[in-house]
Amino acid sequence: MEIEYPIKNAYSLTAESLEKNLSTSQTEGVSDAEALKRGKHFGLNSYKSQKQKSLWRMVLEQFKSPIVYLLFVAAFASLYFKNNIEAVAIFIVILINAIIGFFMELQARSSMKALREMDISYSKVIRNGKTIEIPSENLIPGDLLLLEAGDMVSGDGRIVFLNAFQVDESSLTGESFPVFKSLEIPTEKTESAHAQNMVYKGTAVLNGNAKAIVTGIAEETALGKISELVGSSVSKKTPLDLKISRLTKKLIWITLVMTTLFAVSGFIKGQPWLQILKTSIALAVAAFPEGLPIVVTVALAYGMLLMAKKHSIVKKLSSVETLGSVNVILTDKTGTLTENKIYVEVLSFPTEEIRVSIKNGTLEFKDARVEKSQLDLELLVRIGSLCNNAPLNPSTKDKKVYGDPVEISLLLLADAAGFSAKEAVIDFIRISEIPFSSKSKMMATLHKKGSDFNVSAKGAVENLLAVCTSIQLGDAVMDLTEEQRKKILESAEKLSASGLRVLAFAYLKSSEKPEEDYLKNLTYVGLIGFLDPPRADIKDAISDCRSAGIKIVMITGDHPMTALNIAKQVGITEPEDNNVISGIDLPESDLLKEDLTKRILNTAVFARTTPKQKLEIVAVYQKAGYIVAMTGDGVNDAPALKKADVGIAMGLRGTQVAKETASIVLKDDSFTSISQAVEHGREIFQNIQRFVIYLVSCNLSEIFIVTLLGFLAPAAMLLPLQILFLNMVTDVFPALALGVGKGDKTVMQRPPRDPKLDIVSNRNWLVIITYAALMTGSVVFSIFLCRVYVAADAIIINNVAFITLAFAQLFHVFNMSSIHSGMLKNEVTKNKLVWIALLLCFSLVFIVYVFPASRTALNLEFIPIKAWLIALLASMLPLFCVQVYKLVKRGKG
Ligand code: ATP
Repeated sequence: MEIEYPIKNAYSLTAESLEKNLSTSQTEGVSDAEALKRGKHFGLNSYKSQKQKSLWRMVLEQFKSPIVYLLFVAAFASLYFKNNIEAVAIFIVILINAIIGFFMELQARSSMKALREMDISYSKVIRNGKTIEIPSENLIPGDLLLLEAGDMVSGDGRIVFLNAFQVDESSLTGESFPVFKSLEIPTEKTESAHAQNMVYKGTAVLNGNAKAIVTGIAEETALGKISELVGSSVSKKTPLDLKISRLTKKLIWITLVMTTLFAVSGFIKGQPWLQILKTSIALAVAAFPEGLPIVVTVALAYGMLLMAKKHSIVKKLSSVETLGSVNVILTDKTGTLTENKIYVEVLSFPTEEIRVSIKNGTLEFKDARVEKSQLDLELLVRIGSLCNNAPLNPSTKDKKVYGDPVEISLLLLADAAGFSAKEAVIDFIRISEIPFSSKSKMMATLHKKGSDFNVSAKGAVENLLAVCTSIQLGDAVMDLTEEQRKKILESAEKLSASGLRVLAFAYLKSSEKPEEDYLKNLTYVGLIGFLDPPRADIKDAISDCRSAGIKIVMITGDHPMTALNIAKQVGITEPEDNNVISGIDLPESDLLKEDLTKRILNTAVFARTTPKQKLEIVAVYQKAGYIVAMTGDGVNDAPALKKADVGIAMGLRGTQVAKETASIVLKDDSFTSISQAVEHGREIFQNIQRFVIYLVSCNLSEIFIVTLLGFLAPAAMLLPLQILFLNMVTDVFPALALGVGKGDKTVMQRPPRDPKLDIVSNRNWLVIITYAALMTGSVVFSIFLCRVYVAADAIIINNVAFITLAFAQLFHVFNMSSIHSGMLKNEVTKNKLVWIALLLCFSLVFIVYVFPASRTALNLEFIPIKAWLIALLASMLPLFCVQVYKLVKRGKG
């Protein structure tokens, strides 16, 4: 059926005319067949900038580099001087380089694609009258979109139903405050992205729920239009990119200085300019680490894929690097440190406390003597069933658990106690809800039964008690006295101190409909203590983080005593440390004052905090120079997740908004995954550092040798093609293998890296220069031996120098193991890929040696076996020296 799309000024139309224009229904949505048709017709609900670049573009981009241009110049110069073999060889090198680059990029791309697929966001829509969840990419114009607190709006839409619906439109307007929506058509002409009866793609639902008819997807949304304007496809450079380009610039300077020195001395010595030009090109090629950026990308993408397999989906490339520098993790408690499989453990009424358990679906009192009045029990259990959003018929299709575990356990309790939750919701028809918020820490629902209105409420004890005025004592309802309040708070404190999560329950029965804000004048009924044990593997993960120099701080919405108990159990605080700060003790505006700052920095447990306080605690830590990782799940956590250096959202229990804002999403919500992610982050950075040191020291050795030979034995000079071969063929594979290797066992025993440090620190430069000097030394040594024991023939000397350098660079890969690891068994020798790379590279050297064409191109000749042995022996020299040095150093350490 033809529909009118895009729709102009959808806000000004009535819902009915919109239904007609978009051929949909406010109750049934579109039909499945129609959805399929529209999906094909309108395409995906994503921006063009997110669509992938074509393979052809990827191929072409392999040739877009200054070094390739330089090689083309060299190749054409060779053609001009009729040196056809050399020209063809250079073209082949360019081609091989492009092929390697292309496949590495393809590998990186498929890793990134796999990562993106794990991070699909979903939208709830009604199609054919049924509520279903679809990937947000598949949203179509006319879909009936269902929205609730915590959702990210996935398309523009005209609201047709709402309940206490508030959104944060800061992604569109830049102003972060709740916007109240309504169904009314604006009387004046408004800017089309600001209408009160519309929702917009990319905005966040803060409160309530709504239904909207989708009027725009992809580029036909307000956000899509802005993105087009600002050209969101321009990707931002990460700190790592900047560090790599700083490094490359340094290398270019080194080359320039060396080349100038070389050229000037050549002219003074009266060398032919063609030779000077060729060697200058060789020098430039030698110094430029062509393989570097792509190996970095491959290492990052591969590392991220490994992290994803261990439950951490990294969404921002730069976070991988930041992760390695994190020195404080601010974590929530429920579900991250604890199992979030919640069991009812204690029912506490004003007059008695009963320990219970649910066995085989029946409620058992642990103390057999207790006989509970059915009336009290029924009341408590019924409030738990009514003030509840967990699904009554949970889906058994997938393993995912829908609903808040506390609420699920309340439904189980109802069934076990013999007061069916399903029957309760039929008897008491829900009229409205005051949703739970981590600020109010309470939730309430209003129901109607016959002519009576009933409010059911549950929440944090202090907060709920503050809105209670009476108390249920058996059958009687009495005024709530100060004495009773104190006693209830004491009981709650006692239960919390034993590690239970405690919720209070209250109700109100009235013949008149209560006011809109019905969380007041309630009758207190009792407490329920839930057992939420710490996850089994948490203690180890926390101690790993500790030895890695990372501070762990718990920030929770739960009771201080519960928080402290769990903190002690998992090792966040020592058993004798009772230091905990409660949210009420933190004046929000004064958090950055000096004495308070000190107290905050010295406290490891924060309880009853609000999302705003979380944000402020992040700020305190950042101001004190910390690199902060912060976990969050709620819509209100989004600002703190954004502010933290690494925002970590919970994949299972997190809201869409938290997941979209965070830079890492944990698939299993567990703290252990955070510590593993930090370990991986460090490993990836260590790998990058490792192959950078490897590549740069190899490049530098080539520069040293070319310069040295230029002065000492110009006739035996390494030829541009030989250097190219070393640089573009043999160096890259070992570097790549190092890039995807495992870190050494000490990564988590060292303090975090200072993120401001360059990839190659001053100390690293010293190491690189030493390595390069050793490799140069080995070449000089081989030339010396060759002159003494074989011949002084220029070609033989050149060949021996080339082979020595090729082998020395390959053996040099073993120098890249950490000083803390063993000589024979270390992370490099254990890396299978290193062995494969070496085998490949040694074979390549022999292959070019065997074939006459490549032999001619590389100026190689059959040299005496003695010369080979000299090359082999000399090439092991750097490896030998470094291993002896490490041995001595380890012995001393
Ligand atoms: P964490 O911040 O570690 O996840 P939390 O789940 O306790 O801990 P919040 O979700 O902010 O933090 O909850 C704060 C408090 O609000 C809880 O301790 C509990 O007392 C109360 N609460 C939690 N969920 C509900 C709910 N669905 N209905 C009513 N009250 C709730």
